[in-house]
Amino acid sequence: MVTGRSGLDQLEGQIRRDFRYLNYPPDNWVKPMSGPDGASVADVVIIGGGMCGMAAAFGLRREGIQNFRIFDARDAGAEGPWVTTARMRTLRSPKRLAGPNLNLPNLTFRMWCVAKYGREMWESFEYIPREMWMEYLIWYRHILDIPTENNHRLERIEPEGDLLRLHLQGPDGPVTLLARHLVLATGRAAFGGCRIPAVFEDIPPSLIAHTEEAIDFSAMAGKRVLVIGGAASAVDSAAVALEQGAGEVHLLMRATEIPRVNKFKNTAYPGFFRGTLALDDARRWRFLHYSLASRIAPPRLSMLRLKEYDNFHIHKGVSVRQAAVTDGAVQLDSGDRKFTGDFVILGTGYAIDMTRQPELAAHAGDIRLWRDHFMPPAGLESDELGRFPYLGPGFEFLEKEPGAAPHLARIHLFNAASMLSHSGISADIPGVNVGVERLVNALASAFFTEDADRHLADLYAYAEPELLGDEWRED
Ligand SMILES: Cc1cc2nc3c(=O)[nH]c(=O)nc-3n(C[C@H](O)[C@H](O)[C@H](O)COP(=O)(O)OP(=O)(O)OC[C@H]3O[C@@H](n4cnc5c(N)ncnc54)[C@H](O)[C@@H]3O)c2cc1C
Repeated sequence: MVTGRSGLDQLEGQIRRDFRYLNYPPDNWVKPMSGPDGASVADVVIIGGGMCGMAAAFGLRREGIQNFRIFDARDAGAEGPWVTTARMRTLRSPKRLAGPNLNLPNLTFRMWCVAKYGREMWESFEYIPREMWMEYLIWYRHILDIPTENNHRLERIEPEGDLLRLHLQGPDGPVTLLARHLVLATGRAAFGGCRIPAVFEDIPPSLIAHTEEAIDFSAMAGKRVLVIGGAASAVDSAAVALEQGAGEVHLLMRATEIPRVNKFKNTAYPGFFRGTLALDDARRWRFLHYSLASRIAPPRLSMLRLKEYDNFHIHKGVSVRQAAVTDGAVQLDSGDRKFTGDFVILGTGYAIDMTRQPELAAHAGDIRLWRDHFMPPAGLESDELGRFPYLGPGFEFLEKEPGAAPHLARIHLFNAASMLSHSGISADIPGVNVGVERLVNALASAFFTEDADRHLADLYAYAEPELLGDEWRED
């Protein structure tokens, strides 16, 4: 069996053949539109060139929506968390998960892995090595020819008539462009950034970092490291600190017992992905409220990384109430316990707070949130869930006051903050095919209905003869 470049050449040949059989890519059918003074307008701009953004781009192209652009703030090959801020050795989902293949077998991780590394390699692991997953995504971009424009960060969105004017910062300075629809495939941290508990806000950056940031672990050799949180990112950061020679690592978690179950695993099936949107609000709320309140177990493989270290300590039931710096060290106080560290790592997850998200903050007052729409029953209250956006069926923002901000219908939030409205179909690997299908259906429908009169005029004008007049004899 051929592997390496020759294996990939073979696979890529098969994919090109599949595309020929599927008549991919179909011609563009969306009516062209120009902006003021004839300025060009993109039908869709996708922000985010990670898994979800790329899969959305492929989905659009497959449905004949060809006039799109896709941007990412990061360097090419560094999109998403995989080779930057992720610190686990492997993905937590098993290798057979469906990824962004849009139901084409030759686009799966498995086909790529076998073609590049051979069957034995595929059989040798159960969980996908993190860097290998990124390698697959880079190949996915290559074989699908996804035209990501890297090093462009979206900073501001403004309505302009029936269009959106987008302001990006590019490598050569500011860039503005017009779009009919905007897809924010911006990842986990893009609805309010990192969650930083207030008690840590005054610790100087030289002594503290969130797991979402780049961290110089080599500087922790011999040092006392305090890691806050009990979920995957905290545990993996603790492991890297130990592997890089930290003197001692203390993991401080609020839970009184280490959570053993990941309830979200039980929500990764087609019924949940496809049906959540159709549920009543009370049940949608209950599903997510319960899954989050149950706390998510860190992956077993991550916990096992810590086991061999005698200089690793878990402290349960610790809620830090005070944090201060004395003689260059951080002192944490939970009331009944005190901890001293040379560096603190916050594995405290992501905020849900649109007012802190630069490109969305200006629209925050107009966007309908769950708390504007739904009153949870007693015992199920949650400020955080209340701050999730209440999205429409195509992931579009809805207005708080009907008619006050119609441009919001053109902004589709295709990231993890869609979870309460749609389930994890624009966030996690197993759901992304369903998410892209739903997003692309919504956009295709929007473009058709927005231009229905032009399409009708086309139909009236359509005169391509099927019969040439020589197929029959007149008597
Ligand atoms: C550490 C970690 C481990 C995970 N492990 C798993 C797992 O094992 N299994 C699983 O199913 N899921 C996992 N997930 C969840 C999910 O699969 C990942 O978050 C995945 O990266 C989601 O893809 P995405 O395209 O939505 O976001 P990302 O991959 O994060 O891509 C978003 C992109 O948007 C860009 N961007 C953001 N804002 C802007 C802006 N304003 N302008 C321009 N570009 C912008 C970013 O640069 C980034 O490249 C994990 C997540 C994390 C953080």
